[in-house]
Amino acid sequence: MHTPVPEYLQEVLDGLSGHVDGAVADYIPELAAADPDRFGIALMTTSGRIHAAGDADAEFSIQSVSKPFIYAAAIMDRGLPRVLRSVGVEPSGEAFDELSLEQGSHRPRNPMINAGAITAHQLLVGEGATSAQRTDRARAFLSVLADRELRIDEAVMQSELETADRNLALAHLLRNYGIFSTSAHEAVAGYTAQCSIMVTARDLAVMGACLANDGVQPHTGNRVVPSDVARQTLSVMAAAGMYDAAGTWFSEVGIPAKSGVSGGMLGVLPGQLGIGLFSPRLDEHGNSARGVEAFRRLSSDMNLHLMTAG
Ligand code: GLN
Repeated sequence: MHTPVPEYLQEVLDGLSGHVDGAVADYIPELAAADPDRFGIALMTTSGRIHAAGDADAEFSIQSVSKPFIYAAAIMDRGLPRVLRSVGVEPSGEAFDELSLEQGSHRPRNPMINAGAITAHQLLVGEGATSAQRTDRARAFLSVLADRELRIDEAVMQSELETADRNLALAHLLRNYGIFSTSAHEAVAGYTAQCSIMVTARDLAVMGACLANDGVQPHTGNRVVPSDVARQTLSVMAAAGMYDAAGTWFSEVGIPAKSGVSGGMLGVLPGQLGIGLFSPRLDEHGNSARGVEAFRRLSSDMNLHLMTAG
C-alpha cells in the first residue's frame, strides 16, 4: 500500500458514503433513534500505532461486540472446562437471537449468540457472585481492554429491557435446563447492562489489538488476557462471530470479527491488528451493512485474509 493509512481509511469511508442499504435496528427503541449516517473506522497495530477516520470517536452501545470479551472474562474467572460445560464452541448457523440449544446437553451452541452470551455473563466472577458484581466485572474488564473508563448508558439499557421478551424467553429456557439458576429477569438485566456499555470505533480497535497482541494491551504493555484465553476467544469469534453469515464471511473476508445491532464491528488479525468500525444501518443478518463492505475492502486492499499464505 502506498497511500498513508489515515488517507486510505478516509478513502474507504468516502467510497462507501453513498451505500445506504439496510436499516437501523428498531427492536430496541433507543437504537432506532441513532443517526444512520455515522461512519467511523479505526485500526490499531499490535505495536500500538493507531489510525482513525470519520466518526471514530462517536459513542454507541457495544451490544453483541461485548460477547467475545465477556467470554474471555468468563474463562479467566472460571476456567475453560467449567465454561465449556455451559456453553459450546460450534457455529450455530443461526440468527443471533435464535431459540435453540444443543441436543442432549442443552448448552447454547456458542457464546456469540444471545443464549450463549447470557450464559457467559452468568459465569462471571464466580459461584455466588451478585448481579452487581457481574455487571461491574463486565464494565471494568472492557475498560481495562479499552484503556479508559467506560460507562453504561441507562437509557439504552432501560429501553432494551422494555422489549426484552425474546431474551427473557431464552433465559427461562436456559434456567429450565439448569444451565444457570439466577432468575431470568436478573440474568437478562445483567446481560443487557453489558450490552449498554458505551464505546467508540477507536475503543474497539484498541480492545481488538489487545486480543491480536496475544492478550497484552499494546498501550500499557500489561497482560490483560492470558495467551490461551485470547486464542480460544478468537477461535470462537472466527467460527461464529458473524452468526448465520459466519461461513461466507470467513471465506470471503477472512478476518475474525464480531458485529452488534447498534452497528459496531470488531475485527482482529492475530499478531497484526485490531479494527473497530461504526455504521448503524444493518443488513439482513444484523451485521453493519457498510461495515461488511468496508471490511471486504480492507481485506482485499491490504491483503488481510488469514488464509492467504505469505
Ligand atoms: N442486546 C442485543 C440483544 O440481546 C444484542 C444483540 C446484538 O447486538 N446482535 O438483542
